[in-house]
Amino acid sequence: MGESTAARGAAFETTAIHAGQASDPRTGAVVPPIYQVSTFHQDAVGNPRDGWEYSRSGNPTRAALEECLASLEQGARGLAFASGLAAEDCVVRTVCAPGDHILFPNDAYGGTFRLMANVFGRWGVDYTATALDDLDAVRAAMRPNTKLVWCETPSNPLLGVADIAALAVIAHDAGALLTVDNTFASPYLQQPLRHGADVVVHSTTKYLGGHSDVVGGAVVAADADLGDRIAYNQNAVGSIAGPFDSWLVLRGAKTLAVRMDRHCANGQQVAEYLSSHPRVTTVRYPGLASHAGHEIAAKQMRAFGGMLSFQVEGGESAAIDVCNRAQLFTLAESLGGVESLIEHPGRMTHVSTAGSVLEVPADLVRLSVGIEHIDDLLADLEQALK
Ligand code: PLP
Repeated sequence: MGESTAARGAAFETTAIHAGQASDPRTGAVVPPIYQVSTFHQDAVGNPRDGWEYSRSGNPTRAALEECLASLEQGARGLAFASGLAAEDCVVRTVCAPGDHILFPNDAYGGTFRLMANVFGRWGVDYTATALDDLDAVRAAMRPNTKLVWCETPSNPLLGVADIAALAVIAHDAGALLTVDNTFASPYLQQPLRHGADVVVHSTTKYLGGHSDVVGGAVVAADADLGDRIAYNQNAVGSIAGPFDSWLVLRGAKTLAVRMDRHCANGQQVAEYLSSHPRVTTVRYPGLASHAGHEIAAKQMRAFGGMLSFQVEGGESAAIDVCNRAQLFTLAESLGGVESLIEHPGRMTHVSTAGSVLEVPADLVRLSVGIEHIDDLLADLEQALK
């Protein structure tokens, strides 16, 4: 792949379209081709052409995405994975060893909790789940063997907001690293490395892909040495994104900024509509001035995103009824696509947190607000809440 024409320092929208994506040097193709290939002809023993040897270790389509991701998050190295959870797994295995401790949020994606509790727990890595918006509690939960502070902001599904810069100071003072799951915000709305985080992870399945047609993950490291260590483990374990999946995420990234602007505008209007609905008891959206993390979100985010959750009068059965009655909001797990989705976290995405400190309220409904016309979205919620 030719050198990128997008210099670092270009605006986000420009970087998303050009970083890592110079025209193909052989054909002039204006988007990176899908190098659907496992291995590469070498010119002589020990002399692979342009360094390409075998697609687990490196593939030109994946490399284009990885360079773009690093630029979008303003990090030293980007890596593309088979899924968000594969990305998370690789970060933890690189930073931690058996006997170490992770400080974990008390509100996070259920699959991340399952990975920490049931997979790394068995590997001998311990965790403490703490409210990340309570900095005294975070300080008190740090241990001499804490190697990683794990942050998700805004969090899934309660839309909690954590102060990235403050957490970075606490982590670094204790000799630990700070990882931020930036899936809900996307790099267009929030760039955690600029606030002192060491590593960003994404489920690129969500806003970066943007069209509900690919499962993928990403890691961006602030520091080249840490990035190289994560890359070593990615190759050793083999949890890479394939060429076609990389290409889909790269195509999604080009339109991230324009999609996010509409997600944010629609999200704000849906949050305001629900706030004044008589059957809704609580709305969780960082763009509302009443949200406990509104000021911090305004400090570290460009805008407030398309994710929100709310609670309804009538408990779990009422919340499930709303999900079942929605028509335009599709009842489905996942988020971040152009189409609006609705789900019941307690019975769907967060079922693995049942009985733990991360258990979610039974009357909670989560929305991924898409980019359809706002009038149609509000009309659907109106009929679903009747
Ligand atoms: N992080 C967050 C915040 C998520 O919502 C998800 C999935 O829903 C993941 C990570 C895991 O990503 P994936 O499903 O791509 O493995």
